[in-house]
Amino acid sequence: MTTTTSRPQLATTVARLREILAPVRRRDEKIGLVPTMGALHAGHLSLVRGSQAECDYTVVTIYVNPSQFGPGEDLARYPRTLQVDLDALARCGADLAFAPTHEEVYRAGYSTWVEPGDVAEPLEGRCRPGHFRGVATIVLKLLNMVHADVAYFGQKDYQQALVIRQMVRDFDVPIEIRVCPTVRDPDGLALSSRNGYLSPDARRRATVLWKSLQLAQELVAQGQRDARTIARRMRELVLTAEDAQIDYVALVDPGSLEPVDRLTGRTLAALAVRIENTRLIDNCFLEC
Ligand code: AMP
Repeated sequence: MTTTTSRPQLATTVARLREILAPVRRRDEKIGLVPTMGALHAGHLSLVRGSQAECDYTVVTIYVNPSQFGPGEDLARYPRTLQVDLDALARCGADLAFAPTHEEVYRAGYSTWVEPGDVAEPLEGRCRPGHFRGVATIVLKLLNMVHADVAYFGQKDYQQALVIRQMVRDFDVPIEIRVCPTVRDPDGLALSSRNGYLSPDARRRATVLWKSLQLAQELVAQGQRDARTIARRMRELVLTAEDAQIDYVALVDPGSLEPVDRLTGRTLAALAVRIENTRLIDNCFLEC
């Protein structure tokens, strides 16, 4: 890992991005890409470190992509902290930050969209119609802009990583996709740029997501294999938090995201919960 305090180079246009990357490519360096919406935290930075561990040059994109937000979601208030993000990237030695404007990404007359397949339908797809269409479109655009060798995503957004993997396979995009472990606060809450919306009391209550995933792991360790029973116990635990509203608690096949009845192998437990109107998601594998 490189440690430096000099800021990464900053590009805000595709032309400048390509200009900076041209000599990197001529040197035949391996390029890693970390797509983010900014408001960087240790989860994002773990992806940067993942890239630095296997690539010669790391590009971090910072762009709050409007097309993945639904009407009534938090696009307007989503945190935008570019200068602080650049400082964080300097501390961990990222090479290039690409922070385009909206006009640069969706130029006047923009009209092409990626329609993701079945894996985008359940869970987040059902709760946030159009979300993965926006995600797949922006990620494909970023992959085309950067032409990286490897792109890094977080397991916290497990379904997103599956959608991207499927898109890359279907569109023959020459890139490897890595999914890195979820980084958590010491009390288990998965780091998220949205955690900052929570009041101190809601922040305390938000630990029920991780507690319910741990409960699922304990039940499986005790021999429970009935998915409905595990999901019911998780729901009961989540609802002990005042004001918690469940979007879903699901036990699914980690490849297809189809619901399972009985656990017979690795299963994904995933949930989305609103606490004080902040929507939080988390997941973990259940091994049996
Ligand atoms: P976002 O800025 O929320 O779009 O996230 C950008 C990338 O960081 C995505 O691949 C996320 O899955 C990943 N990410 C977000 N939170 C975490 C976390 N707590 N641990 C690891 N990766 C994360």
